[in-house]
Amino acid sequence: MARVVDVNLLRKIKQHGAGGTLDVSACFNCGNCTAVCPLAADSAGFPRRMIRMAQVGMEQELLASEDLWRCYACGECTQTCPRKADPAEFMAAARSYAIGRYDFTGLAALANRSAIGNLLIFAAFSAVFSALLLSKMNPAGPQLPLFSFLPGQWIHDMGIILFAVVGLSAFCGVASMGVRFWTQRRGEGVALPFTALPGAVFTALSDALTHRRFRECDREQQSPPALQEPWHQRPWVVHATVMGGFLAMLLATTLDFMLKPIGSPAPPWYPMRILGLVGGIVCLYGLSIVLLRRAQGKQTPYTKSSFADWFFPILLTVTVVTGILCEVVVYLPSPSTFGHAIFFTHVVLAMDLVAMLPLTKFAHVLYRTFALVLFAWRRAPARLTASVGAEI
Ligand code: SF4
Ligand code: SF4
Repeated sequence: MARVVDVNLLRKIKQHGAGGTLDVSACFNCGNCTAVCPLAADSAGFPRRMIRMAQVGMEQELLASEDLWRCYACGECTQTCPRKADPAEFMAAARSYAIGRYDFTGLAALANRSAIGNLLIFAAFSAVFSALLLSKMNPAGPQLPLFSFLPGQWIHDMGIILFAVVGLSAFCGVASMGVRFWTQRRGEGVALPFTALPGAVFTALSDALTHRRFRECDREQQSPPALQEPWHQRPWVVHATVMGGFLAMLLATTLDFMLKPIGSPAPPWYPMRILGLVGGIVCLYGLSIVLLRRAQGKQTPYTKSSFADWFFPILLTVTVVTGILCEVVVYLPSPSTFGHAIFFTHVVLAMDLVAMLPLTKFAHVLYRTFALVLFAWRRAPARLTASVGAEI
């Protein structure tokens, strides 16, 4: 199979590394990182193989590899690298680069490559959503209930259009990844039977929801009990609380839109309200640990943080906090300017969050889940006749 080499690939990936210090050109391919990686046992040598691909400019192969997304950034490999090449940071930077390459609009590349690009896109989305909301804002002011101040039907319509556009964008990104995977594996002679696909989807979704693979990265399991972190602070638990809390809020909002008349009042014990509130509190718990560890910068993988590493958890935190405040102000005896401001801010930020999903680090939700499907599919019976991993 013809192979295209991009001699600038390593330099381009380095632009996505935290703090501009990433230098995997120091890697001399010893394989220590692969030996210690808890997830490499069933694959042909990642992260070493990914680093080698970047060093020799094999962009096509790198972007087609599901292994890039199977890494859970535990940082174990970085701690044991004799050349201080920081393979865990390389994997994070390569994923950030891949998000930009899967997206056809060029916005993801801009958002992931620089803090300014990220902020510009955020500001542009915020300005558009604010202008659209203000265009329908009721001028009667603070004495109005929240969904009369900003008409519920208008928020609903904007939300549907936004989800449709973002869904299309996400589909295109995932399709781009899938086509690269398919083309690459077929070229390598890997059989991909469609009959095995449903089973692969089931395996991937159960892995993603139970964090089975992430739990395999739990290095605490090997430590003496006295030295172990409490279970509720372990990385996979923290990740599960952020993801689970977010999914609970998304489910509550979706069901609320579908089942409740738009803008109608709901009692505090309304099930969707309780689900969303509990999800928000659980999500905030995980986010507070993530942000604290990033601020401390002591614990792997939080020792180095790029702008994108900060941006997404902060945006999610402010969105959740304003959402919880909305739950409070909606029951105040009389509406207030403060309540309206919080509500307006929350709606804009929630729309920003959805709009930026396929463009930022947040996109790993899509690509990792899809990569788990591809991985399970590739390993389905009657599959492998050759592997690019053997060649490098
Ligand atoms: S990244 Fe480090 S541990 Fe991994 S192969 Fe290179 S030198 Fe060895
Ligand atoms: S960060 Fe952890 S999961 Fe990722 S490659 Fe390194 S050891 Fe493996």
